[in-house]
Amino acid sequence: MLAQMSPRMEPRKKASLLADNTSFVKQSHALDSAISRHIIKDLEEDEYIPADDLYEGSWGTTGVNAGRLAIENIPDSIYFDLTGYIPAIEGKVTSRFGPRWKRYHYGIDIKLNVGDPVASVFDGKIRITRYDRGGYGSYVVVRHDNGLETVYGHFSKILVTEGQVVRAGEIIGLGGNSGKSTGPHLHFETRFLGNPINPEKFFDFELGEAKVSSYLMVKEIAFHWAKPYRNKSQEASTSVAKKKFHKVRNGETLTRISKRYGVSINQLCRLNGINKKRSLRVGQTIRYN
Ligand SMILES: [Zn+2]
Repeated sequence: MLAQMSPRMEPRKKASLLADNTSFVKQSHALDSAISRHIIKDLEEDEYIPADDLYEGSWGTTGVNAGRLAIENIPDSIYFDLTGYIPAIEGKVTSRFGPRWKRYHYGIDIKLNVGDPVASVFDGKIRITRYDRGGYGSYVVVRHDNGLETVYGHFSKILVTEGQVVRAGEIIGLGGNSGKSTGPHLHFETRFLGNPINPEKFFDFELGEAKVSSYLMVKEIAFHWAKPYRNKSQEASTSVAKKKFHKVRNGETLTRISKRYGVSINQLCRLNGINKKRSLRVGQTIRYN
C-alpha cells in the first residue's frame, strides 16, 4: 500500500489534566443520568487521547503516517496489551503483509462483500477519516490505548467522524472497493508510531482472536521490512536470544531492578518503552539487557 510521507503533524494542545479527567470519567460512569453521560462524552472526545505518552501529543489528521517516528527512535522493545481484541470482520485473508507487485504491502487483505460491517478491533479514538482515490479509498485510522493504530481501507461508507471515541467491535464503516482495489476487500494495517507491523504477528485471522494477551514487540523483528533491518533476520534472531528479562515480583520498583542488574533506570525505560513514573505490574516482564 502507500508509503506517503507527511510533514510532522500539527502540534495538539497538550491535555495536561488528562490523568485527573480519566479518574473523573471513571467516577462519572457510576452516575446514571443524562447529564453525566453528556459530560463523559465531552470529556472523552476532547481530552481523551489514547496512548498520548507514547505519541507525545502528536495527533495528525493529514495522513495514515502523519507524525511518524523514525524507526531508529522507536523503543527497542515494548509490550502491547492485546486483550479486548475483536476482529474487524471475519473472512478469508487474500493477501498478506510483504512485497507485492514490486511494492510493499503494509497490511493484509480480507475478502468481504460490499456493505459488510467492519468493526474497530480495540477501544480507541478515530484519528482520521479520509478519501484517498489512488490508494486506501475511503479509510479510517483508529488510535488505541495499547499504543497501536489500526487502518481500515477501501470502505464503501464511513460511519464515524474524526475525534469520535469508539469501542472494540463498534462498526466504523461498510466494506467496499474504493481506491486502488481490484475487488471488494478490507485492507487492514496495524501501525506503531506511524510504522506498519504485520498484523498477523498479533492476530490469528482464521480463529478471530489475538495470538497472545500481551505481545512483546522486538524492534528488529517487528520492522524487518525496514531499511536498517532488511536482510538481517538472521542477526535479529541471534540478538533476541541475548536479550535478558526479569519478571516483576510484588513490591518491586524500577529502582530495585536497576540496582539488581546494574542497569540505569533510563536504560530500563528505553528498553521497555515505559515511562519512569509508571508503576510496574506484578508478573510484568521487564527487559534489562
Ligand atoms: Zn491491501
